[in-house]
Amino acid sequence: TTKTRFAPSPTGFLHVGGARTALYSWLQARANNGEFVLRIEDTDIERSTQAACDAILEGMNWLGLTWDEGPYYQTKRFDRYNEIIAQMLAKGTAYKCYCSRERIDALREAQAANGEAQKYDGCCRDLPARDTDEPFVVRFKNPIGGSVVFDDHVRGRIEFSNDALDDLIIARTDGVPTYNFCVVVDDWDMGITCVVRGEDHINNTPRQINILKALGAPIPEYAHVSMILGDDGAKLSKRHGAVSVMQYRDDGYLPEALLNYLVRLGWSHGDQEIFSLEEMKQYFKLGDINKAASAFNTDKLVWLNQHYIKSLAPEYVATHLQWHMDDQKIDMSNGPSLAEVVTALAERAKTLKELAASSRYFYEDFAEFDEAQAKKHLRGVALEPLQLVQQKLAALTEWTVEAIHQAIEDTATELDVGMGKVGMPLRVAVTGAGQSPGLDITLFLIGRSRSEQRISKAIE
Ligand code: GLU
Repeated sequence: TTKTRFAPSPTGFLHVGGARTALYSWLQARANNGEFVLRIEDTDIERSTQAACDAILEGMNWLGLTWDEGPYYQTKRFDRYNEIIAQMLAKGTAYKCYCSRERIDALREAQAANGEAQKYDGCCRDLPARDTDEPFVVRFKNPIGGSVVFDDHVRGRIEFSNDALDDLIIARTDGVPTYNFCVVVDDWDMGITCVVRGEDHINNTPRQINILKALGAPIPEYAHVSMILGDDGAKLSKRHGAVSVMQYRDDGYLPEALLNYLVRLGWSHGDQEIFSLEEMKQYFKLGDINKAASAFNTDKLVWLNQHYIKSLAPEYVATHLQWHMDDQKIDMSNGPSLAEVVTALAERAKTLKELAASSRYFYEDFAEFDEAQAKKHLRGVALEPLQLVQQKLAALTEWTVEAIHQAIEDTATELDVGMGKVGMPLRVAVTGAGQSPGLDITLFLIGRSRSEQRISKAIE
């Protein structure tokens, strides 16, 4: 069965590039009824932090990219790596190299001066075993001659000549195994059948394949995904605004919108734009991933976000909106259910952040009217419409959307004025501002006593 993994290095938050790689890898597992492994590549102890680990897990959880195994941590697997290194030394697929830093530097300089590729010359490759306590690194005995070929799902056939590859260091002088080696042992131990990762790892792949072969391990399939550019064509970075997945949560995006956005950023299925998770799982194929770099387009993400705010179940959207209500410290002890608020405001909001902000008057009294709106619709205008609608609302036997609607309409008819002459002052009176959903639903959600108090206050 298919088994894939996402293997972030915990040196920062989960950014959109990583999230897209994770999504593709996750989909490859889910689309094939396979398994998905999360592995934290934290061997770079200097740069790895617990905070970054937590941020990555938080991002994965928020996106709903569930894993079946892990998280594994490479720093907890050093014994295993060392065990394999010892086996390779015993078998002669790796060797101890005693070359000094000075010798290696001199070699590099000479190679550079001759215009040759910089590469270890294999000086210690065939040394007889030494009984010495001189420091050494362990190098992999890369095959001489021939080439490494793999069929990349995204890029097609890729071939590297073995002579271009170094005898890779697999353990440093201090005995710590190196990055490429840990990846190989992990992919093997974890039974990974398909590696999906960034194109910046293409040069590692032939080295990893050679080590896998030396271990007698099966070779996984590979898909190297292109990078994401900002809308200005430069590599996506902080300059382009949000790059951390959790920043998108903070900015008011639904995970469904970001997932849909990310899946389409470099992958397509006909000209379909909107994909539910089920559809993604149904249609996803690594082979349909685009080879070219993709450019980030915030407008499209906003469009998708609006789509999902409007079309997902209000009760569900409410669970995400709650975070923003808390974030904006809106006191919800008194007021309508959040799902009702979502239904009322979905058409008007680009983000949940906006939606939360514009829902405040359902829960809390506002301190001041929007000055311009108040000038236009409350102060210095005849207040008859507002007074009459106040009476009609007070006379209602029940507080329903229909009854409220009728009261407003009757007021306009009776005074022989347009709906706006009633609606605008009423809107400013109850919401403090000039924009809201339909007044009937707005007053209904604000509630009877609150609406009546606010109208009285506006008339004072
Ligand atoms: N740890 C690597 C990274 O964060 C990924 C390595 C891999 O997927 O093989 O870029």
